Amino acid sequence: MNRRSFAQSIGGAVALSAVAGSSVWSESTSDGTPGRVMAIAAHPGDGLFTMGAVLAQQIERGGTGALLSLSLGERGAPKDIPAQRYGEMQRTATEKATQLLKVEAIFLPYPDAEIPFNEESTLAVCDAIRQYKPDVVITHWSGSWHKDHQNCHLIVRDALFYAGLETLERSRPAHSVSKVFYADNWEDADNFVPDTYLDIEATYEKWLQACDFYPMWRGQTGFFRYNDYYSALSTMRGCLSGFKHAVALMSDPGQRTGRLRSLWDLLSKNRFTAGQRAVGPESVS
Ligand SMILES: [Zn+2]
Repeated sequence: MNRRSFAQSIGGAVALSAVAGSSVWSESTSDGTPGRVMAIAAHPGDGLFTMGAVLAQQIERGGTGALLSLSLGERGAPKDIPAQRYGEMQRTATEKATQLLKVEAIFLPYPDAEIPFNEESTLAVCDAIRQYKPDVVITHWSGSWHKDHQNCHLIVRDALFYAGLETLERSRPAHSVSKVFYADNWEDADNFVPDTYLDIEATYEKWLQACDFYPMWRGQTGFFRYNDYYSALSTMRGCLSGFKHAVALMSDPGQRTGRLRSLWDLLSKNRFTAGQRAVGPESVS
């Protein structure tokens, strides 16, 4: 691929490298230091496989991370394991994985395949956001075939609104999240358009180790080759962004507007490591 087609293939996106000191988190905290990131997933596997590398990278840089799972994903059980027991296996795997990555694990008790989108679940996630106080939230994109993923997207959308609403009285004060991203998930691929690429090389191996606690990652519960897919995806996203391994994220469409004092700001702030220049939402000044 020549330089022109390379640039076209990633047109509109931003590549972020911790090494270069250019990071999405610096846009999210007032002093430019790594902040708090919260991943909110329908099932623990979604959290680790699609958001875990971002949490690990954030923590490696000195920030903190939490994974909120709305269910245990127990109905993904193979035929020879009862769903309840498989749910406990999923909980144990998540505890081990999050301990390894130094991520705080939070569970809500909704049944897999029946995660409700209602006031109760939305307020429960609102309360978790107010308690953890993240700068950045990552969750499912809406373009999913899976009803739990769709409901998680809607729950988080409204929970973010509730969390920041000063006049909504809960046990903890209001908290506004600075930035929302959607994760690159094979089940949420409809109209998923990544615009931010994060260099995960520093924590890539540790993230793979964390994922390996899950039987489904190792292909022991179904047909889908999670290990092959997500490790190959990180290589492919790395190829597109000029990193060895990368995670691609999609900004919330409502947060894509850039504010520039001059076009030169945009050119000087965003550079690919491969020498390409990019434009995008992180060009805010
Ligand atoms: Zn899922």
